[in-house]
Amino acid sequence: MLREEKAAGTALGIEADKLTRGGKLVGDEIINSVVAAWLGRQGGDDFVFDGYPRTLGQAEALEQMLAERKQPLDVVFLLEADISTLRSRVENRAICKACGNIVSVGLHVTDASANCPRCGGVLTRRADDNAETLERRFAEYAEKTAPLIGYYEKRHLLRRVNTGRTPEQVFAEVFQILNEHYH
Ligand SMILES: [Zn+2]
Repeated sequence: MLREEKAAGTALGIEADKLTRGGKLVGDEIINSVVAAWLGRQGGDDFVFDGYPRTLGQAEALEQMLAERKQPLDVVFLLEADISTLRSRVENRAICKACGNIVSVGLHVTDASANCPRCGGVLTRRADDNAETLERRFAEYAEKTAPLIGYYEKRHLLRRVNTGRTPEQVFAEVFQILNEHYH
């Protein structure tokens, strides 16, 4: 959504771009405005947010926006993984210089010297995939995002999915939970 706003050259997009370039996180106010603008353009009832909300301020704003639309949330997924799994995912992650494809070494390609399976481009490590950034993200998660677990448990919306399995197994469980809500 932020990329769309930036591409469209809106004031929100420009502001968000300035913050992310400076290595800063985009604050709740901007994120919520972007979501509100996006929701305003949606005619249908069915959508999935990925990576939003990430803070209580965002969750409360979303609840308000959806209440106004009379479209409350059906379900919230908590995709869980233990810290060692997350560490190894970050350590094994590579990005294609040419097309931006993100691949996992050992899953999508056999080793780090392989080429991009999508376009044949050169794979490289992401600049922000290092131990220091990871520790900072964990700390930020614990402080800002983890409180959402209780928030959505209280509303009986939270479903936990263990992602320490194959992508097929994780997909099957998410699909089954969605089916419970739509049949
Ligand atoms: Zn590529």
